[in-house]
Amino acid sequence: MSGMDTGTLHGPGAAASLLASARRIVVFTGAGVSTDSGIPDFRSTGGRDGGLWTRYDPRKLSFGRYKADPDVRRQAWKLRRELSAIQARPNPAHLACVRLAELGRLAGVITQNVDGLHGDAGLDPELLVEVHGTGRIAVCLACGDRRPMAEAVARVEAGEPDPPCLLCGGILKAATVSFGQGIPPEVWARAQAMTDACDGFVAVGSSLVVHPAAGLPRRAAAKGATLVVINREPTPLDPMADAVCHGEAGSLLPGLVDSLSA
Ligand code: NAD
Repeated sequence: MSGMDTGTLHGPGAAASLLASARRIVVFTGAGVSTDSGIPDFRSTGGRDGGLWTRYDPRKLSFGRYKADPDVRRQAWKLRRELSAIQARPNPAHLACVRLAELGRLAGVITQNVDGLHGDAGLDPELLVEVHGTGRIAVCLACGDRRPMAEAVARVEAGEPDPPCLLCGGILKAATVSFGQGIPPEVWARAQAMTDACDGFVAVGSSLVVHPAAGLPRRAAAKGATLVVINREPTPLDPMADAVCHGEAGSLLPGLVDSLSA
């Protein structure tokens, strides 16, 4: 089923009734799921972030520039320090995903977020695909050594503006997928398999413009899954969704899961 055929319905009641019989739901999350935890998204209007992404434009911190330019790396480590200082905790949207799993109706969460909050909420790692990696780990681009991000940030705070790998002296980087870097094939394969096997696909708090991840909702709809979009603003996929809910992820997603458990 897809909104292109049926006309898009609006509101949480419509979303709940369209998903009433779904048993293998994918929740696809973007930065908007974590704004209630204090982590700014990229594209919201309103400037709630105080300019974090203005000061650290991700396009300027692309993979190519990161490898080539120590100044870019110093900027990226400053960003990591600021993000660590937020000390974000999971919010009701993250907890709703865990509840959906407890109801036995979650095929998985595919997240574009790198903040680790779905894991902190208690989601089974088997049910989680972090398509853009994780900011919780620092990885050496030369030897592949992986360490907790907290260790690398502590080194930055202690006066190393661009801390090298402790094993080989190579360049360290957050284990995230930056602009210009590909999603690891095995991670992408898991995301596609989850999408292909679902009967409901709920895209929450994503502007749905960052590809290839934003292709997954279309793929799910093309395979016949019910597509629901939850966002505080319109998205490019609203016209093809079966149901669209405009509002806050932190209330709409828990409300939807409550309706599905009734
Ligand atoms: P985005 O910033 O492009 O879009 C966020 C969307 O969420 C917007 O459409 C906005 O209207 C909506 N939104 C914001 N707060 C909301 C709320 N409380 N309730 C409902 N909707 C809300 O984010 P994206 O689509 O995820 O793509 C951006 C890329 O940036 C991703 O790759 C992501 O990894 C990365 N990113 C991650 C984080 C994080 O890990 N928390 C934060 C910023 C950016």
